[in-house]
Amino acid sequence: MPSKLNTVPFVSVENMMRLVLDIGVENAMAEIADYIEDDFRRWPLFDKTPRLAAHSAEGVIELMPTSDGIDYGFKYVNGHPKNMKEGLQTVTAFGLLASVDTGYPVLLTEMTVLTALRTAAMSAIATKYLAPENASTMAMIGNGAQSEFQALALKHICGVKEVRLYDIDPAATQKCADNLAASGLTLVKCKSAEEAIKGAQIITTCTADKQYATILTDNLVGAGVHINAIGGDCPGKTELHKDILLRSDIFVEYPPQTRIEGDIQQLSADHPVTEIWQVLTGEAAGRKGAMDITLFDGVGFAIEDFSALRWLRDRLKDRPRYVLLDMIADPDDPRDLFGMLQRERGRMSRLSP
Ligand code: NAD
Repeated sequence: MPSKLNTVPFVSVENMMRLVLDIGVENAMAEIADYIEDDFRRWPLFDKTPRLAAHSAEGVIELMPTSDGIDYGFKYVNGHPKNMKEGLQTVTAFGLLASVDTGYPVLLTEMTVLTALRTAAMSAIATKYLAPENASTMAMIGNGAQSEFQALALKHICGVKEVRLYDIDPAATQKCADNLAASGLTLVKCKSAEEAIKGAQIITTCTADKQYATILTDNLVGAGVHINAIGGDCPGKTELHKDILLRSDIFVEYPPQTRIEGDIQQLSADHPVTEIWQVLTGEAAGRKGAMDITLFDGVGFAIEDFSALRWLRDRLKDRPRYVLLDMIADPDDPRDLFGMLQRERGRMSRLSP
């Protein structure tokens, strides 16, 4: 029988949902945002690498590792825009946290729900630091799986009051509006991207299409707005017209990854961008003028997942919503792995002679 020492807490989708509902979706995102901010402030000490991507014609499967020297974390995540038409999720994920000291895993968890929470928390951080003062109206373009989380995080953390929804599929907009009906947000269902961004100081694009899409054209975007471009997150998959990028002050997570995956893949490799962690630490300026366009070209970086895993590990201490998995082979004598196998043979034959 596994002892507690060889077991690893595993958070299933059901347990994740219960934990998040116990805490409250908005509170959970605010707490994760605090963990991300803490980790971004100590950015230089992390191991960083662009994520390891396996591309196919239909999508991408990625591994996202990082470490702060004490803990090591990684996420497995896919992005398959065609899945939705087949009744499957575009994005699914799971992840693991391990001790750098022993190399033993300390937490295994679903990360599909956790990714939606951390992605929204990250948009809220970017918006908090970059949006014009007193911004209270957001256009939410792309009303799929991430959209409600994005709207609620910006409401809770940034004080957004009105969300103007648009999706090429009106059923997605209706779903999003229904899900947010009790949120206290003023919701406006729009028939075009142009209508959605009318009067919005914040524009969030979170669409899924494996192509160089133009969700926003240059003439649509006026001065003095903040854009979170979240959906363009792999080579050949962008959302904004290049001319918008050329008019914007661009903020990114980790340039070596964003230059491959973000909307800035449309620009030259030396186009200036600001690393958003430096805005958080005060080493770089955020918004410089009220009429500037600020653009957070968010692709999702491993440190955000690491922060979310750290948050989860801490939260499980007072809310044990997990089961223990027998994941680590741990013989009494560490060199006698074979002996452990032999003893199991004996136990099996005693149980079923
Ligand atoms: P989803 O498939 O559930 O929703 C995408 C929505 O976009 C759909 O409702 C679709 O109808 C809509 N859409 C497609 N083209 C459009 C267009 N031209 N105009 C308006 N709407 C359009 O996907 P999701 O889980 O919400 O993810 C959306 C995107 O965000 C994906 O590309 C995903 O890879 C990306 N993502 C990024 C991060 C990050 O950290 N940056 C994290 C999670 C997901």
